[in-house]
Amino acid sequence: MSRIKVEGLAFSYRRGTEELFGGLSWEFAPGALTAITGPSGRGKSTLLYVIGLMLRPSAGAVLLDGRDVTHLSDARRARVRASSIGFVFQDAVLDPTRTILDSVCEPALYRGDRRRSVERHGRELLDQLGVGTRVEHRPGQISGGQAQRVAIARALMNDPAVILADEPTGNLDEENTALVLGSLRAAARDDACVLIATHDKDVLAQADEVLAL
Ligand code: ADP
Ligand code: ADP
Repeated sequence: MSRIKVEGLAFSYRRGTEELFGGLSWEFAPGALTAITGPSGRGKSTLLYVIGLMLRPSAGAVLLDGRDVTHLSDARRARVRASSIGFVFQDAVLDPTRTILDSVCEPALYRGDRRRSVERHGRELLDQLGVGTRVEHRPGQISGGQAQRVAIARALMNDPAVILADEPTGNLDEENTALVLGSLRAAARDDACVLIATHDKDVLAQADEVLAL
């Protein structure tokens, strides 16, 4: 369980260029779905990268459970990222040579979990997301919307304390949007802190909190 706090956060891609989210302070609670919204170019994606420890802020700090993770070494930040953070990007990138089930299970097998329980969990997640009948298929044999749901299953595989999703429903119809939101909601029920950058009205309507940039 992780509570994320940002304090006085700002970011510029280059010195002297526009400062994004100018001094943002906010607390993201475990168990909650927070939608991050605002016009294109306002910095929604960038905020996810900063909270996801892929970019360092130019001002302010990111605190995970009260611990400032802004000024840790790159190696330590990478470790925190690997152990606690799951990313869902807008466009799913799956290994074309692996089956769906292998792609989903890989993060858990990599950290040494037992194959039998990993595969059980992988199948559960894929069922939940409506792609349970596709486990033996490869990415070339499924639709873009299905690939997106597989990528979400993969991001949820290791039960990350923090889930960062960038327009996860951007290319999905209503039915698939509901499945994706259901899975993110289930992760939040397990006390994950879920942040979703989105314009999607369905997502905004179902969020517990909305942060407008
Ligand atoms: P949003 O997700 O709200 O559309 P982004 O975080 O993608 O906003 O981008 C915020 C601003 O930063 C935009 O003006 C964008 O052009 C700029 N930007 C994004 N990525 C980079 C980058 N890698 N280098 C320079 N500028 C960038
Ligand atoms: P989104 O609309 O999903 O936020 P974009 O299509 O704006 O994303 O950006 C796609 C990629 O291009 C991202 O990796 C982003 O960091 C990069 N990017 C966006 N704007 C710029 C920019 N002005 N300069 C350099 N890279 C950018």
